[in-house]
Amino acid sequence: MQQKLKEMLEIQEKLNLMTNGKDWKDWITNKGKVINWRRCMYMEMSEAIDSLSRAHWRNIEGGIDFENIKIELVDIWHFLMSELLRLYPLEEVLDLVQENMDYEAEIKLPKTWKKEDNLKLNKYLEHFEVFMGMALLPIEEDEFMENFVQEYFVCLDTMWMSFEDLYKLYIWKNILNKFRQDNGYKEGTYIKIWDGKEDNVYMQKIIEQTSGFLNIYKKLEEKYEKLN
Ligand code: MG
Ligand code: MG
Repeated sequence: MQQKLKEMLEIQEKLNLMTNGKDWKDWITNKGKVINWRRCMYMEMSEAIDSLSRAHWRNIEGGIDFENIKIELVDIWHFLMSELLRLYPLEEVLDLVQENMDYEAEIKLPKTWKKEDNLKLNKYLEHFEVFMGMALLPIEEDEFMENFVQEYFVCLDTMWMSFEDLYKLYIWKNILNKFRQDNGYKEGTYIKIWDGKEDNVYMQKIIEQTSGFLNIYKKLEEKYEKLN
């Protein structure tokens, strides 16, 4: 577990260096844009919440895009690791995360949504919203950061996600990020919608049938060529 955590932190460190340049820990990219990992986190959390039929004026049947919530939580993990790496040396992040990851949710989201679940929506979203609220606060004290990490792992548990699930999805998402960067994401020329859905969705299909960085990457390339 420690090895996998370390691997993810190292990948994230490298990724930030590669996409944002050497000053990424000072809130700025090499293209002169401000980085705010907390904002990234609460915006991704709002994407997660948007995957539930949270709006009472639309989609009255209710429902839940369960798989997408998981992906949004993995998106948040990129930013949470980045924020921790900005604040602490890698060895300390390792300890901090390991000491604060064993937290469970008292209620988990249903994998299949029933009509009566609509009435429990506030309860289901409770931890997501607490995490979001914390992300809005510019507090950097150790105790706050520990609670913040705990709250993140509670959110994962809400989605039945283990550390192992997080690891797998993170690695897969990274292949996709690499692919995006290699195909003009930053320049704004990347096509993100594939056959009417986000590339994420296609990625999920690929990983069900394929494993290994290069194989998955190749499948993405084949599909992307057909889109152009
Ligand atoms: Mg997003
Ligand atoms: Mg997202």
